[in-house]
Amino acid sequence: MRRFFAAAFLLLLLLFLLPLLFLSSNPRVTSDGSKQSDPPTATLPADASPSPTLAAHSDDASTQFRLLTDDGVCTISMDKYLFRVVAAEMPASFQLEALKAQTIAARTYALYKIQNGPSKNHPEADLCTDSSCCSAYITEAEAQKNWGDKQAEYLKKIQQAVSETDGQAILYKGKPINAVFHSSSSGATESAALVWGANVPYLSSVASPENGDTVPNYQSVVEISAESFRSTILKEYPDAKLSGSPDQWFGTPKRSGASKVLNISVGGITVTGRALRSLFGLRSTAFSIAAKENTVVFSVTGYGHGVGMSQYGANAYAASGWNCQKILTWYYHGTVIGSWGAS
Ligand SMILES: [Zn+2]
Repeated sequence: MRRFFAAAFLLLLLLFLLPLLFLSSNPRVTSDGSKQSDPPTATLPADASPSPTLAAHSDDASTQFRLLTDDGVCTISMDKYLFRVVAAEMPASFQLEALKAQTIAARTYALYKIQNGPSKNHPEADLCTDSSCCSAYITEAEAQKNWGDKQAEYLKKIQQAVSETDGQAILYKGKPINAVFHSSSSGATESAALVWGANVPYLSSVASPENGDTVPNYQSVVEISAESFRSTILKEYPDAKLSGSPDQWFGTPKRSGASKVLNISVGGITVTGRALRSLFGLRSTAFSIAAKENTVVFSVTGYGHGVGMSQYGANAYAASGWNCQKILTWYYHGTVIGSWGAS
């Protein structure tokens, strides 16, 4: 009998000890029996912000980045973002090939910004929805409200522009370019060198076909009283001599090949066309000045800085039969259209 109890005791002891022995030989088996996986070798700390997943993908759905909206920073995919940008940047009534050109330009512009690091305006996000910083942006609901009874047609058209150009970008030496664009030009686009003082090979001046027949407010007029003009200029340029009649205040403007005012003498001071555009809210720097007794009148052609693709020009070329590739390689000289992830 004692032998039986001794054997039972040994058996019980073994039953308790064996699992303990097993556990000690395999420290990754937890108390509930599940197996811990090996820790990833490159785990981000829990508080690290997510990085854009641009590396290996060139399709829009897989390309995600951080977008600063009015509601804070969110992660968004390129296809969703592009729909909202194109709906905000170009009239949906435009030719499909113009909308496709706009989509590729907007995708390229976004990629260029993402790849060159966040703006100082928003280090926490790759892009924002402020048109003066990144690109214009409108939600589907807002866009559809604006489109009224055309909403089904326009929704489909912009979705088509995005899906048919999936992953396509404007490339120079294999990299997405700084694809700036503007609304309308005065017969030709402007070179980046003349507007911003930086020579960018693919942002040179090329002919652009839009005119007053196809562009609303192509010609605009801004009238300013002589007194208001004088005080505005003197605030910025205190040495300007603006006495007597306004018709004595202006020299002959120096113009670019695209008819834009590079600079002009105002009261004996050289003022750039860009500065006058900003001070008096002109739609572009393609302007002439007429001075009457008590008024200064700017007559302005086109809208925007004039560099890169003209949106109305793109629409006119599309109406004449050009496809989006031809439009883009015209406005961005020396570039090719291709998959940005393939390079
Ligand atoms: Zn921004």
